[in-house]
Amino acid sequence: MTEPILEIRNLCKSFGALKATDDVSLSLRPGEIHALIGPNGAGKSTLIKQIAGGLRSNSGSIHFAGHDVTPLSTVQRARAGLGRTFQISSLAMEYTALQNAMLGALGREGRVMRFFAPVMGQRNLCDAALAALARVGLSDHATIRTAELSHGQRRLLEVAVALTLAPKVFLMDEPMAGLGAEGSKQLTGFLDELRHEAPILLVEHDMDAVFALADRISVLVYGKVIASGSADEIRADPMVREAYLGA
Ligand code: ADP
Ligand code: MG
Repeated sequence: MTEPILEIRNLCKSFGALKATDDVSLSLRPGEIHALIGPNGAGKSTLIKQIAGGLRSNSGSIHFAGHDVTPLSTVQRARAGLGRTFQISSLAMEYTALQNAMLGALGREGRVMRFFAPVMGQRNLCDAALAALARVGLSDHATIRTAELSHGQRRLLEVAVALTLAPKVFLMDEPMAGLGAEGSKQLTGFLDELRHEAPILLVEHDMDAVFALADRISVLVYGKVIASGSADEIRADPMVREAYLGA
């Protein structure tokens, strides 16, 4: 079996007395989609933020592409190839789709590049941004203000912004939320291709998408992984059915 590209070990995060994540370990292998499911408040978003770096863990470690990235900041992790999440919109509504994608590409280069970009990097940034827009099917919307895009198109734009960072791994927090049937189907197809470029740790409520995409599913309840396995194993697990699937 191939080595994991991302491995998290014994991660914990408490908010006061609440253990939002409690000794969570899981891994992600090349080409894989590993879905993380669980009821509201289970700690899924907390875990994603701990991995991306926005939240400091109380204990545990994160190993990415052979390195212990636990001490690194969010920006350093992103630059190393740990892709961002999508739950909270980070798009600038007054900017065009292309401008947002270019800002994403700029983020990759860091502050120094941000300063020099006006004189040296514009063209490359623009090319990278246009390529990312094309991949999510937004080429025709490049010059449209983000505020005028539909919800589904904004979601796709967020994916395009993430793509400009050329991540080695994607961390996605409910990318299907609010997309509707057609949008979910489109994004599901895209993620199915994207996994070959960069494996995906996918937090998702849309169980059709999860069962269609996931090679492995882990179930988080009250901050703990209560089960982990293939889609069939998870569907058949009585503990999961009781705790989460409501059957
Ligand atoms: P999920 O994404 O699975 O719905 P979250 O990770 O958002 O769950 O939340 C897990 C628990 O941690 C919840 O009880 C939530 O209220 C709590 N929580 C999350 N973020 C904070 C925070 N910044 N401060 C205090 N409590 C938080
Ligand atoms: Mg959440």
